[in-house]
Amino acid sequence: MVKHPFVTKDQLVEIAEHYPTPFHLYDEAGIRRNVEAVLDAFSWNPGFKEYFAVKANPNPRLISILAEYGCGVDCSSATELMIAETLGMRGHDIMFSSNDTPAEDFRLARELDAIVNFDDITHIEFFEQVAGHIPKTVSCRFNPGGLFQLANGIMDNPGDSKYGMTREQLGEAFSMLAARGAEVFGIHAFLASNTVTNEYYPSLARILFELARDLARERGVHIGFINLSGGVGIPYRSDQQPNDIAQIGEGVRRAFEDILVPAGMGDVAIFCEMGRFMMGPYGCLVTRAIHEKHIYKEYIGVDANACDLIRPAMYDAYHHITVMGQAGGPDKSAWEPSRTYDIVGNLCENNDKFAHDRALPEIERGDLLVIHDTGAHGYSMGYNYNGRLRHAEVLLRADDTCELIRRAETPRDYFATLDITDLGRDLIARGSNIA
Ligand SMILES: *Cc1c(COP(=O)(O)O)cnc(C)c1O
Repeated sequence: MVKHPFVTKDQLVEIAEHYPTPFHLYDEAGIRRNVEAVLDAFSWNPGFKEYFAVKANPNPRLISILAEYGCGVDCSSATELMIAETLGMRGHDIMFSSNDTPAEDFRLARELDAIVNFDDITHIEFFEQVAGHIPKTVSCRFNPGGLFQLANGIMDNPGDSKYGMTREQLGEAFSMLAARGAEVFGIHAFLASNTVTNEYYPSLARILFELARDLARERGVHIGFINLSGGVGIPYRSDQQPNDIAQIGEGVRRAFEDILVPAGMGDVAIFCEMGRFMMGPYGCLVTRAIHEKHIYKEYIGVDANACDLIRPAMYDAYHHITVMGQAGGPDKSAWEPSRTYDIVGNLCENNDKFAHDRALPEIERGDLLVIHDTGAHGYSMGYNYNGRLRHAEVLLRADDTCELIRRAETPRDYFATLDITDLGRDLIARGSNIA
């Protein structure tokens, strides 16, 4: 399948006249279409709720689009909880799935009456000590250990992952929580990341449904929900077959009918915490070629760098790139590749490459490039190495107008935390001058 950007070359040239590159661009219409498909796929389950994983994209404007559809949020830190709070969410709109959790995070989760998803059995007493009594609705995270396999091979290695509780601990945790007043219980597990197969959720659902049935009997507790968490992936590569969310929902429904309904547990709600699937394809990084360099390889230097998108540097992740062209020049978006380039940013790190040995059409200085699938784990993983600043986020609205939803950082932002010293205050003044 050929990957097309969600904007045309002419549209992008016009947007880039108003918003200087680089910036992340988001596709409101795409976000809406996708969330509607997700809700449709799970409409058989009356309690279904998607808790968008805020870490994937913490821009409140984007989260508010999902909230229109009744989505909640999955938070993992106090600052993410503050985003939820500011969006007017509390109680069962917030899942708090954290690990190695600081006391103040538990305190804020309790204050907002969020559903706390305990990562470890020892966190129950810790929570009581630092945040107060155990809420009526609680959740625990399960780690089955070993390797997690599907028909097409090993997906991930839960035995080597720091998250969740063992089967024995999970049972004991439920009893501990019940003794402390909990009444509604949930089970959560995240066993594989970025799965591009319709089998992941249904297989995970079977594991968790059987576990729920057994735990309900064994511990005499009421299971209110099963949280399938995140892990539903997207086709970063053009040769990958995208997940079909309708088929995924149907696979989970079959597991539900097979296991929970016969156990008299047909009232269990299905929750998920998708991040990547909800936002990934509906964002791209728009950047411009500013240099070309010919040494032992052919390099194109762009105005974005790994501070805007660290996945290639960190995981050697593939992000598809479309060369668009520039104002007054040809539309290159459908051109066949004729060159092989490394597309690089300006960090003093040789892994600051958005692509290496990539076959692409000929690129000239000034050309706009679209780096695909940066809507999740893109801006949010940004950092400030080399004193490089994070850039803006722009929303392409459903009516084709644009809205700046986060401005670019300025040197003043970079120096802001030095305000405790005279030198720092001089820098902030200097940084304010330039911006
Ligand atoms: C990262 C994460 C998610 C979201 O994962 P995606 O792969 O982006 O869908 C959901 N829940 C938890 C607990 C996570 O850590």
